[in-house]
Amino acid sequence: MADPTKGVILITGSNRGIGLEMVRQLASSAATVIATCRRPDEADDLHELADAHTDTVDVLQLDVTDPDAISGARSMVEERYGALNLLINNAGVNGGGTADTFDHVDMETLMHTFQVNAAAPHIMTRAFASLLKAGAADGNSAVVNITSQLGSITNTKGRGTWQSYKASKAALNMLSRLEAHELRADGVVVVAMHPGWVQTDMGGSNARLTPEASVSGILDVVRSLSPDDAGRFLTHDGSELPW
Ligand code: NDP
Repeated sequence: MADPTKGVILITGSNRGIGLEMVRQLASSAATVIATCRRPDEADDLHELADAHTDTVDVLQLDVTDPDAISGARSMVEERYGALNLLINNAGVNGGGTADTFDHVDMETLMHTFQVNAAAPHIMTRAFASLLKAGAADGNSAVVNITSQLGSITNTKGRGTWQSYKASKAALNMLSRLEAHELRADGVVVVAMHPGWVQTDMGGSNARLTPEASVSGILDVVRSLSPDDAGRFLTHDGSELPW
């Protein structure tokens, strides 16, 4: 498979954290990075990057929970680029984080976390499927669903915090498998990818990895994807996690 990181790439949640670092690392190598975020008017760091790479970085407003915004983004990508080589479903929320225990979890938090972390990436992938298939016709096309090892049912032991988040990522893992089966025959490789524990607003300052190290690893894995990787649950260092 040719390298999807050199083609047309769309990233969700690219105004901060892992998403912003992805734009930074791809801006010089990709044909185009469509850097999407909820509030471009407040995305100063992203605009600074886009201003330094006007030929490759295109900023686009996209709240992933808004189906109309998703279909608008799809139409824009079709009109401007005609195909998509890499969709990175990165946007995510932590639910109630450490306060999200069995005793405190509530319906609103569960539903919102499922919406952003599981339903939205699936709807994004479905919306962009035909453009990804067009990208696959050029020999390279992939979907990377940024999940978490916290969504591994095998690895979950005992009582736990982050309940909505863990359940939403387990759902995203299942949807990743379903998408992989659905799109494999058309040459689109879908993987679920754990970025490691990363120093971002979500990961906190004690996290092991810098965004630079995490994203550099993720992109190395993406560059080496083959059709046999479709439906795998991988980490930023290329190792495999149990479902
Ligand atoms: P951050 O909290 O730093 O960033 C989250 C991003 O998601 C922001 O850009 C945020 O935008 C965006 N976002 C949230 N809701 C929406 C929405 N409705 N529409 C569009 N964008 C939205 O987190 P990270 O960078 O750390 O996380 C990125 C991904 O990596 C997430 O999926 C997360 O679950 C995953 N992950 C992170 C780990 C870590 O240790 N950091 C570990 C494992 C997985 P806004 O600024 O508008 O809120």
